[in-house]
Amino acid sequence: MAFITKLSSAMIVPYKLSRGSVLERQTKAQNLTEEFIQIFLPKVIDKKKLKASTIEHLINTILPEPIKIYIKKNKLDDIANVGTVYSFIFKDMYKYIMNLKMHHYLVKTSNTSAIIHEFRHLADYIYHPKYLAKERDMFRLGLFNDTWDRTYDNFLYKQINISNNNEKKDVLKTIEDTVKKNLEKYNSKEKITTLQNMRYYLQSELNAYNQEYQFIKKTEEKYPQLITEKTNIESFMFEDKIKIIEKILKETIFQERNTF
Ligand SMILES: [Zn+2]
Repeated sequence: MAFITKLSSAMIVPYKLSRGSVLERQTKAQNLTEEFIQIFLPKVIDKKKLKASTIEHLINTILPEPIKIYIKKNKLDDIANVGTVYSFIFKDMYKYIMNLKMHHYLVKTSNTSAIIHEFRHLADYIYHPKYLAKERDMFRLGLFNDTWDRTYDNFLYKQINISNNNEKKDVLKTIEDTVKKNLEKYNSKEKITTLQNMRYYLQSELNAYNQEYQFIKKTEEKYPQLITEKTNIESFMFEDKIKIIEKILKETIFQERNTF
C-alpha cells in the first residue's frame, strides 16, 4: 500500500515484521509489550525511582529496528502519554515520544503500570501502520482541532458509570447523536478521516487498558507499589463506542456513494 511506505522510515518496521491479519498484528503488539515487561520489572521492583534515560534505553532495547523512543518530561498534568511528532514543513511524522512525569530526570516506579500502558500504544503504532497513516491524515487536514477535543478528548475518552441496561441504551444513543452533531459541518473526507481515527484511538485504548490490567492482576499482590491506578475499564465502554463509530462510518460511506 503506497500510502504506508511514504511514512517516515523512522516510524515503521519493515513490512516483513508487521504483515499479517489484524489479529496477528494485535498478537505481535501484545507480545512486544510482554517482552518489555519482562526486562522492565526486574529494574523497578526494588527501587522507588528510575532515571528517565534508563527507561528510554530499556524501551529502545526492545523496539525493533529502526524504531526509537525519545522520553521527555511531561508538561501536561497526566502521568504518561505517547505520541508522534509531526513536522508541518515535511507534512509527516518523524519520531515517537513518551512524555513522563519526572522530577530531576527521575521517574517514580509507582508509574510502572502507566508506562506499560503507554508502551502498548507504541507497539500498536508500530504494528498497525494504518493507525499512523490515519493520524498523519488528521494532521494534514488540520483535524486535531476544537471539534476533535470536544468529541474525542472531552467526550468519547471519558468514563461513565451506568447502573442498568436502560440507562446504558440512553447513554449510547446520546453518544451517537453527539458525535454525529459535532461532525455535521464536515465534508465527507473530513468526517471519514476523523471517524476512522477515533476508531483506531479507541481500539488502542482498549488494548492498552487490557494489557495494563493483566499486568496489574499478575503483580498487585506481590508488588502493589508498581500500580499507578486501577482503572474501571468497563466504564469507558470502549467496545460499545467502537461499534457506534463503525456504524456512523458505514452510514457516512453509504451516503457518500449515493451522492454520485
Ligand atoms: Zn492510553
